[in-house]
Amino acid sequence: MAKELRQIAIYGKGGIGKSTTTQNLTAGLVERGNHVMVVGCDPKADSTRLLLGGLHQKTVLDTLRDSGDDIELEAILKEGFMGTKCVESGGPEPGVGCAGRGIITSIGLLERLGAYTEELDYVFYDVLGDVVCGGFAMPIREGKAKEIYIVASGEMMALYAANNICKGIAKYAERGDVRLGGIICNSRNVDNELELLRAFTKELNTQLIHYVPRNNIVQQAEIRKKTVIEYEPTHAQADEYRTLAKKIDENEMFTIPTPMTQDRLEAILIEHGMMDSVEYHI
Ligand code: ADP
Ligand code: MG
Repeated sequence: MAKELRQIAIYGKGGIGKSTTTQNLTAGLVERGNHVMVVGCDPKADSTRLLLGGLHQKTVLDTLRDSGDDIELEAILKEGFMGTKCVESGGPEPGVGCAGRGIITSIGLLERLGAYTEELDYVFYDVLGDVVCGGFAMPIREGKAKEIYIVASGEMMALYAANNICKGIAKYAERGDVRLGGIICNSRNVDNELELLRAFTKELNTQLIHYVPRNNIVQQAEIRKKTVIEYEPTHAQADEYRTLAKKIDENEMFTIPTPMTQDRLEAILIEHGMMDSVEYHI
């Protein structure tokens, strides 16, 4: 019997590693036999390039602009690594119009064109942004994506962003069945990072689902437009993504996050020696 479709939104501060982690995680999930669709929800449209191996993916908004409404699914959905389904919403240049519009348009169009097939096990929405608002809340509004993971690191701004994202999630969770599945630490090799993330996730009423080490192989694979799993399947970093995939496949901890006050967040940072350097400069 087919598993029930899990629709997952990935949030986190810009540049933290959402797209990289989502695609490497996806490669790990398809290796385990899952059918996965990735919907890029960032106007940068770089959420699927590692899975597509350089194939040019035209965004949904650009396709609609050039071809009008009468388009086939194949025009916006391309197959990548091991049959992964790849879509890029696209969006306006920063500051021009609502950047979330592409997401809304894309989800509607994918539904109409029958992209959400029976055989799919996972749909990932790789969403840009530090806050869950407007168009960027679209994947979790009305319970489209019921499961959320936040990518963070031990850097202060990544934790500020994660906490803010949790404020948005809590709002939607209280109204419906949206839940936080955990925080993925994408390491920046900050001192005490693991302990800090453990304390942070505990305070947030969630879990640190996996600690992904920082490793240059990620960038070496990226230059070749590949995930680490495809580029160097025997590398230890590939196994880290496989472990993350297994943990998400088997995850049963879904909670309503309890975001903290700025003061409490700063207290946790200080407890873990994070604010020392800030004080030096005052
Ligand atoms: P986001 O989607 O959150 O904006 P990206 O996924 O584009 O961030 O990642 C930003 C950069 O960080 C990329 O160049 C990527 O190669 C690099 N990166 C991400 N994760 C790792 C890692 N674990 N080790 C080394 N480099 C990483
Ligand atoms: Mg990205």
